Amino acid sequence: MDVKLKAILEKLYSEMNSLDKVKRDPVSFPHKFEKEEDIEISSFVSACFAFGKVDKILETLEKIFSTMDYSPHLYLKSSSYRDIKRDFSGFVYRFVDEESVSDFLFGLSDIVRNGGLYNLVSDNIFDTAENIYKEIFSYSKNPSALKKSNLLCDIRKRSACKRLNLFFRWMVRKDNVDFGLWQRKIKPDKLIIPLDTHILRIAGRLGLTKNKNSSLKTAIDITESLKFFDENDPVKYDFSLCHTGIQGICNADVEKAKCNVCYLKEFCIEGKIKANKFNGGF
Ligand code: SF4
Repeated sequence: MDVKLKAILEKLYSEMNSLDKVKRDPVSFPHKFEKEEDIEISSFVSACFAFGKVDKILETLEKIFSTMDYSPHLYLKSSSYRDIKRDFSGFVYRFVDEESVSDFLFGLSDIVRNGGLYNLVSDNIFDTAENIYKEIFSYSKNPSALKKSNLLCDIRKRSACKRLNLFFRWMVRKDNVDFGLWQRKIKPDKLIIPLDTHILRIAGRLGLTKNKNSSLKTAIDITESLKFFDENDPVKYDFSLCHTGIQGICNADVEKAKCNVCYLKEFCIEGKIKANKFNGGF
């Protein structure tokens, strides 16, 4: 383990581990709620819609939660399929239409009426994340409406399941960004990093993985590399690394001005190679 890189990752983590930093992140929505039941269900909805451009995600989540009158648990508990279909009539976000969002929310309403998502998790604190995910989201257990929706990933197909892993991070880890509501059942070292384009790119540049594709295997590979820096809580670095990309510091094209202010520059493989082409490098 490179102690200097660990120090930099920790510095980045500390700077980003603040409520001020969540504004341009889907996790900002569950932070608007106080009751645990609202935080849990709004986290699941927010994580499932965490695809596409940040501004569009936030706009879509605002639409969803305002339609629920900012009481997602009560709304889901008391709404029939007909109510949901009526309230979300005309809804479109990328590949999700009114039919799909209604199936998704009605499936969740079934779970809410049966005690919530947490109740689906057995005391599997020593199990692997993959097995826990399969158990909770095994298609045999899910209500049929949720199965029909195109918003869930299928971990059996070895997909990285970024949105599901994001939801688990929020529920299992506890700091200023993540809620830690499920700490009693799942330990943070069982989490897998939510692998998106930012994490794939930055992890590659830092040499945390050699894989180039967004598969579950790559997500596990990056998580295992991060265990060298914190074996009990490797996914703690996700938010700060991901926001290095979201905030436009680390983009697909390496830019000297941005690399010069990037904490990671000393350890960034691609940044260093490209820097040799710049005058004076770093
Ligand atoms: S040094 Fe440049 S390329 Fe490397 S992580 Fe930082 S911003 Fe990205």
